[in-house]
Amino acid sequence: MRAAVLREYNADLSLKEVADPRPEEDGVVLRTLACGVCRSDWHGWTGEHPRVKPGQIQGHEYSGEVIEAGPRAPWRVGDRVVAPFILACGHCPACQSGHQNTCPDQRLPGFVEPGAFAEYVAVPSSHNLARLPESLSPTLAAGLGCRVTTAWHALTGRADLRAGEWLAVHGTGGIGLSALLIAKALGARVVVVDVVQEKLDHARGLGADAAVNARDGDTAAAIRDITGGGAHVSVEALGIAQTTNASIECLRPLGRHVQVGMPVGHTAFMEINMNAVYVKNLALYGTRGMPSWRYPSLLALIEHEVVDFSPLIAREIPLTGASAELRAFNGPTPPGVAVITDFAN
Ligand SMILES: [Zn+2]
Ligand SMILES: [Zn+2]
Repeated sequence: MRAAVLREYNADLSLKEVADPRPEEDGVVLRTLACGVCRSDWHGWTGEHPRVKPGQIQGHEYSGEVIEAGPRAPWRVGDRVVAPFILACGHCPACQSGHQNTCPDQRLPGFVEPGAFAEYVAVPSSHNLARLPESLSPTLAAGLGCRVTTAWHALTGRADLRAGEWLAVHGTGGIGLSALLIAKALGARVVVVDVVQEKLDHARGLGADAAVNARDGDTAAAIRDITGGGAHVSVEALGIAQTTNASIECLRPLGRHVQVGMPVGHTAFMEINMNAVYVKNLALYGTRGMPSWRYPSLLALIEHEVVDFSPLIAREIPLTGASAELRAFNGPTPPGVAVITDFAN
């Protein structure tokens, strides 16, 4: 099959023919219909992600059609499915208690095992997959990627965002925009923060109640002003100290900070204003991914047109375009996500 392989950090992916994947006992092989390109891929591409090594086929935001199923896989040839980026074992105490995204035996196609920047992708532990509703395009399903699933779980599985509350969103990339769209559907009010005015304007167009350009000075003070005392919930979607502190400092007393951005490499250890955490009695949540059992609740929102996530998809690209998309994350990016939909070019 044709695949884009990480040959060397920060260099163009190498397009080449590699062996077709085979299904595991409980796994399937998918013909890749679409695969999103994500900042997490960029973390791997730059060498900052601790587990992504040269030789890796990246791509963890895929939808596909089953072309082969292992004997214990609950799928048939022709089924169209979407995957969470964390594939849980299904047997351990974490999985049994519903927290599959913390499974210690998780499998990670695109990070550790071959991913979906390729014509085909093997998916082990295929009980994690969710069937695509008829009305949901494979491109949008892939574009939901880790951003929408993570945002859905961050707001409803972790911080318990309620109607009428103020949500602050620091960083209006894919996760930030997903959080905005979900929060508006839940009846919350949303203030977005970014350094790219075009992205703030885009977020306003998608329903953000207020926007703060972080280049304009004290972001946290501006948010406390807009929200009449501070946000109830704040999502940090970048993984760096400056936005993490703005997130913590923009909260009202008893507010909830959710760390969605992935602090890796030089940002893994950061200085945080713990005095604000102490004085304001804040709660700090970490979150990563979504347990796969929550897919039906998320997909139902789309099927019943409660939330339209299509504005997240900025462009469809061929596999040859993946390198340029990764490189683009080196600087501030325009709004929206790129999704690979053509694996022959
Ligand atoms: Zn498990
Ligand atoms: Zn992702």
